[in-house]
Formats: sequence, structure tokens, C-alpha cells
Amino acid sequence: PAHSMEELVSLCKRRGFIFQGSEIYGGLQGFYDYGPLGVELKNNLKAAWWRTNVYERDDMEGLDASIIMHRMVLRHSGHEATFSDPMVDNRKTKKRYRLDHLVKDQKADVIARVAEGIGESVDNFPAVVAALVAQPARAAEVLVAAGVRDPFSGEVGDWTEPKPFNMMFRTTIGPTADEDSFGYLRPETAQGIFTNFKNVVDSTSRRLPFGIAQIGKAFRNEITPRNFIFRVRELEQMEIEFFCAPGTDEDWHQHWLDARLAWWEAQGVPREKIQILDVPKEDLAHYSKRTYDLMYDYPTLGYEEIEGIANRSDYDLGSHTKSQGELGLVARVEENTDSIAKLTIPHPETNKPVVPFVIEPSAGVDRAMLAVLSEAFTKETLENGSERIVLKLRPHLAPIKVAVIPLARNREEITGVARAIKADLQKLGLGRVLYEDSGNIGKAYRRHDEVGTPYCVTVDFDTVGKGEDPNLTDTVTVRDRDTLAQERVKISELAGWIRERLR
Ligand code: ATP
Repeated sequence: PAHSMEELVSLCKRRGFIFQGSEIYGGLQGFYDYGPLGVELKNNLKAAWWRTNVYERDDMEGLDASIIMHRMVLRHSGHEATFSDPMVDNRKTKKRYRLDHLVKDQKADVIARVAEGIGESVDNFPAVVAALVAQPARAAEVLVAAGVRDPFSGEVGDWTEPKPFNMMFRTTIGPTADEDSFGYLRPETAQGIFTNFKNVVDSTSRRLPFGIAQIGKAFRNEITPRNFIFRVRELEQMEIEFFCAPGTDEDWHQHWLDARLAWWEAQGVPREKIQILDVPKEDLAHYSKRTYDLMYDYPTLGYEEIEGIANRSDYDLGSHTKSQGELGLVARVEENTDSIAKLTIPHPETNKPVVPFVIEPSAGVDRAMLAVLSEAFTKETLENGSERIVLKLRPHLAPIKVAVIPLARNREEITGVARAIKADLQKLGLGRVLYEDSGNIGKAYRRHDEVGTPYCVTVDFDTVGKGEDPNLTDTVTVRDRDTLAQERVKISELAGWIRERLR
């Protein structure tokens, strides 16, 4: 695995996985562009998630809802009121920080003074942040007295009281001058699932338990985007809302925890690199009955959330439904007189209408990319003493499945065979097969090691009967990324050979 974020960032840029957004104008913070190889890896990762969670199950439907949503959706979801992070300003530099990030990044003695000043144990960091938020006037004094420095200037800041900063992006809709004609860019894909609950049930005749899966962009105006693609303002999520009868929710929560850990393992993220955080009651979001955060050991960052698996009780559908009073809701919800739909489904045993409980496994695509790249990243010393970087991606994730390399670039008899092989292998439908005639063979191998191409197929003079060994006519060399073994394979058997290994 990678040892530092820097070596990943460098590989991603050098080989065309990930670029800074709007780079030619100086870049835009918190926005990244996925390059030629990044888009392939990302598509493969999303396809793997979809395959496991939609195709291989019999209790799941898919959805692709729109990104811009009616403001009422985000009002009744609770996001208008509570989707915020605490922010502080430094009056001296006019820089603005997310409170918890600011404190966490200080030296240990400064953090200890902040904790002491606000009256909490330094060992319970979330409690320190909560206390700072709860006593804003005191918090400003404590930050200054503890000597909290501005990461930008390096000097002790003149800090304001922490204030909540709502992270939703809003945008005007239509050619109107009316202040109220705006919508929100969704801050999570989940809300599109809840608002389509009735549509999906009515159109598919689903009964409990069942789930709806969605992959798509979400937008969060993070105060301090950072750590490469770990915390960005435009992100992508892979979310499931799994609907079940109240009382069965705890078993389903456990089911999804196990299922999700198995999936990560199949993507090359081993179980021992993920810690399960059973989020303490006092840190739970207001809608959550219980949440498991999967914490992956990121290079440089250490353990940080890669996926959250929450038991959201009947909060979401209960918040968006009409006739709330008649439905015996368990969650505490705000009154809703705007919704025109009753979001119930027959209880599997009593057949009476019920608002189901929801289990939500929610994973970030960008954080998944980072984890998968980090696990695959390998630096090896070869037998001849030279070093190589190789991305040991699982074959189903590899951006390029096979590179077909003609050993001479301007010999038609060789390039013609190479192109025919490329076209043939492409038809297998395994993903991208690349015809590769740039530079020398050693460089091509090194490049394909670094981008994780499982096999390189080389067409040489022997292949076309113009080499030294007539027995090699109509055969090619296949080089294995991981073992470096080179094997001579008959062209007529090549497609089967590759298919067997890349299935
Ligand atoms: P954090 O505490 O790290 O800000 P969160 O608890 O707000 O994350 P959720 O709201 O649970 O995150 O979102 C579900 C998933 O979406 C996360 O596990 C993460 O993988 C991803 N995610 C959330 N915010 C971002 C972001 N700003 N950039 C990239 N991925 C994100």
C-alpha cells in the first residue's frame, strides 16, 4: 500500500487519473477532474457496487434522480436547519476555518489547552468540539488564550465565536428575478430516493423488505476542502436506502454491515484496514438510532470515514409524508403540511399501512477511489535490483484490461496483427483494451505497471513468421503485471486465455 498521500497524488497526476479542477485558471479548491484512467477506474468501481447491490440481489431497485431539488425537500429533510458545520473566522487574516479541523491541526499542547479551557477531556475530541459550539462566546476566548494559530499565517489568530455554516449550494431556477425561485443542489443522493419511494413502490409492486440504490453526484460547500479527493465540494455517493418493518431493523443493520465489509474486501480493501466505529449515542445525528462508521486507514490521514451505515428509523419517510399524525411515527419529526403523498406500505404481517424503517449504507466514490488506489499502490525491488511502482488493482477495477503492443511501429505486417488482436479482445466486453505503439517496450511495460494493466500482449517478428523460431508463428507474448512472467500464447487461444483470467 501507499505510504503517503503525496506519492498517490503524484502518480494520479503523472498517469492521468486525477487532475485539479479548473487548473489552467489556477484551480478551484475542492473540485477535481477524473482523467482518462480515473474515469475508467471510477466507472469500474461504480459498476462493481451496482452489480453486487442491485443485480446480485433480489430485493433491490435502482434509481437516478435529479441533482437539483425543490427547496421543500431539503427543508423537510432537516438540511435547511441542521446541515451545517461550525465555522470560525480569524479577524486578522480574514480566513475562515471549520472549527474541528482548526483545532485538530494544532500542536498537542495547544489542543490540550483548548480542552482544558472549555472544560473537557482532551481524550474526547468530539466532546471538546461540542462544548466549543455550545458556548460560543467562551469558545472565542479559549481559542485565543490557548494560542490557536492560523494555518495560513502561522500566527496566533484573533478568533470569532463559532457560527454554524450551512453547506448546501443553492441555485436560481428559470429566468426569474424572484428571490424565492431557487433550488438546492442535493447534499446527498438519499433524498431523491425518499421522494421517489411511492413511485418505486407503485411501479414495481415491491413489498417489505426491499431497497433502492443510487449512484450520483452530491454537493457540499465544505468550509475547508482538503486532503486531495478525501474532502471535496463536488462528490459522488453510492447509497442504498433499505426499507424494512420496524422491529426487523437491527437485524438488517447487521446484515448490511457484514455485506458492506465483504464488498470492500472484494475491491482489495482488506478487513484489517477498516475499523468499525459504533458511533456513541451522544454523537449520533438526530435522525439516527444507531450508526456504524467504517473507518479506513488512509495514508498520511490515518483512520477516517469511508462509509457510514446508519439506522435512520422512520425519520426520513416520516418527515416527508403527509398525515404524519395518523401514522404512529417513532422518530421525532417536524410538522409537514407541504407534502402531497402518504409514504406508507403494507406491513408484511398485519397488512396495515406502516412507515418503514430505513437502513442506509452510504459510501463516497471519491473516498473509495482513494482507498482502492492506496491499497493497490506497491513499490517493489526486482531481482535485478531496480525498483518499480505497480498498481495491483483487482482486474475488474483495472482501467485498462490489456495493452496490445506491436514491437515495430511502422511494419504493417506487425501493426496489422496487433490491431486485429486489439479489436478481437475489445469484443470480449471486459473493459478498455489499448492499442499501444508509443515508445519502446520497456517504457510501455513500466507505464502499464503503474496504471495497473493486468496483461500486456506483444506482437513481434516471430508472431508473423519473420523471427528466428518458426514454432512461434501465430503466437504472442503475454506479460503478467504481478508475476512479470512472460508466456507465449497462440493467437487463436488468446481471447479464451484472457477471458478466463479477467472474468
Ligand atoms: P465527514 O464527517 O467526513 O464530513 P459525513 O459524516 O458528513 O463525512 P456522510 O454525510 O455520512 O459523511 O456521507 C456519506 C459518505 O459520503 C461518507 O462516508 C463519505 O464517503 C462521503 N462524503 C461525505 N462528504 C464528503 C466530501 N466532502 N468529500 C468526499 N466524500 C464525502
